[in-house]
Amino acid sequence: MAQSLAATGKKILILERGGFIPKEKENWDPVEVVEKGRYRTKEKWFDKDSNPFEPFTHYAVGGNSKVYGAAAFRMREKDFTEYQTPAGISPAWPLSYIDFKPYYDQAEKFLKVHGARNEDPTEPFTDSAYPFPPIPVEPFTKELFENVKSTGVKAYPIPMAVCLTEDNGKQDAPMVLGNFDGFPDPTESKSDAHILGIRPALKYPNVTLLTNAMVQKLETDNIGKAVSKVHVTVSGEMTVFACDIIIIGAGAVNSAALLLRTTSIHHPNGLGNNNNLVGRNYMSHINGCMIAYTPNKLNNAAFQKYFCIGDYYWGDKDYEFPIGGIQLMGKNDPATYAWNPPSVFEGKDTNYIAQHAIDFWLTSEDIPMQENRVALTSNNEIQLIYHRDKNNVQSFELLKQKLKHIMSEVGKIDKDLAEIIWGGYDLGISGVSHQCGTLTFGNNAATSVLNINCQLHDIPNVFVVDASFFPSSGSYNPSLTIAANSLRVADYIKSIL
Ligand SMILES: Cc1cc2nc3c(=O)[nH]c(=O)nc-3n(C[C@H](O)[C@H](O)[C@H](O)COP(=O)(O)OP(=O)(O)OC[C@H]3O[C@@H](n4cnc5c(N)ncnc54)[C@H](O)[C@@H]3O)c2cc1C
Repeated sequence: MAQSLAATGKKILILERGGFIPKEKENWDPVEVVEKGRYRTKEKWFDKDSNPFEPFTHYAVGGNSKVYGAAAFRMREKDFTEYQTPAGISPAWPLSYIDFKPYYDQAEKFLKVHGARNEDPTEPFTDSAYPFPPIPVEPFTKELFENVKSTGVKAYPIPMAVCLTEDNGKQDAPMVLGNFDGFPDPTESKSDAHILGIRPALKYPNVTLLTNAMVQKLETDNIGKAVSKVHVTVSGEMTVFACDIIIIGAGAVNSAALLLRTTSIHHPNGLGNNNNLVGRNYMSHINGCMIAYTPNKLNNAAFQKYFCIGDYYWGDKDYEFPIGGIQLMGKNDPATYAWNPPSVFEGKDTNYIAQHAIDFWLTSEDIPMQENRVALTSNNEIQLIYHRDKNNVQSFELLKQKLKHIMSEVGKIDKDLAEIIWGGYDLGISGVSHQCGTLTFGNNAATSVLNINCQLHDIPNVFVVDASFFPSSGSYNPSLTIAANSLRVADYIKSIL
């Protein structure tokens, strides 16, 4: 968004509550990054029973994209339509895939996505090639990939948003990705919002970035029809800025909280909240990790995140509902293997155990439910009310069974994988990485918060461009859709300036 608007010459002020993530040796240290949460917020949010928890989120220039895994999926055509799931209806979007398609094409170019067309069984239509071929594959992962495909499953390379040195030819040192998924990247190989978005935008004299600048609330004009001021604490000092247009991209939870905190005579329930929908329909995917412990097979891949299995995205012959997606993920940190190692590894160190483990990331759709929502405590802190058990857990549990079945078939091809002991974990309330849906967009002001241009229905100089606008979540990672939508909304904003 910032880069897209920078060339308009308009005065743009970017307010970021965090600072820059420093480039330091700890960037790649799993103890510092994963266990101690060196770059995560220490802010407390509260669950439905008012118990405090630390959300797994990052406040920094570039936001969560500084640590994301860079899997860059399009939503499928059918994701934009209404369909039934065991947990309820996944609602239609007010726009179709075809409306988003040109912006997905642009977002893939912008984020330098590496991938292969025509291998993904549910791939949505496009006539645009991926900007780059899939990332290099290591021997262990290649063998597994081929064996999975030999079972009849249509595995395909994960589309990855990365900038590799070899993209520019072979006259440079190759980039070997390692601690990447969940880690900041001092080599700047990750296509993140700071490196590719904010930094180039700051080259324009009309663009300014203020860090450690937390937006506290917005102020409307006398008749409550436009936001005219933004109240911000900059390094602890309260400051007020005047504005003509405000574009919010604070993440689906914080954007909803900001609107709820913005109360006034004209907006007693918060901004854009006449219909009491602000903060509702929170989704974050039903997701978790499955670890295949392989006592007889050594996994020596430096970067394991290579392929994805989409065969069950829309169901299977024995299940008429969407089930979800399976991806290889970046390795878990050593402490994860130490929590609950299988007894065959007794006395072995965590590195040894890690090398005998294959880590999968599983994602099923989270269905929007009004009762799942962002609210504020009496102290204006964030309360996240979320009932995971009432949601799409049935499909997620089935997805786990599908993976186990695939790997048991792989074990018939590769005898070293015949013995697998399964471990892993499901994400709980603090797993907010895929947060979306708290300010849904739609054509009807009575049933949505934003219009199709992502403006508040009753206050058109306020735009929201993070994942809040999602009416449903699909089953794949959200960031490419967030980027594509930002480019779409930026075009609209430019057309009205
Ligand atoms: C470990 C991890 C791995 C992930 N892997 C993937 C992946 O492989 N693929 C994928 O698609 N997605 C992935 N995601 C999710 C992806 O990172 C997010 O969907 C995406 O970053 C959301 O973008 P956003 O702009 O909506 O919000 P954010 O990235 O959260 O950015 C919001 C920004 O607003 C700032 N902010 C918040 N409140 C305020 C305030 N009041 N005032 C000022 N500033 C404020 C924050 O500091 C932050 O910089 C991952 C996330 C994590 C944490």
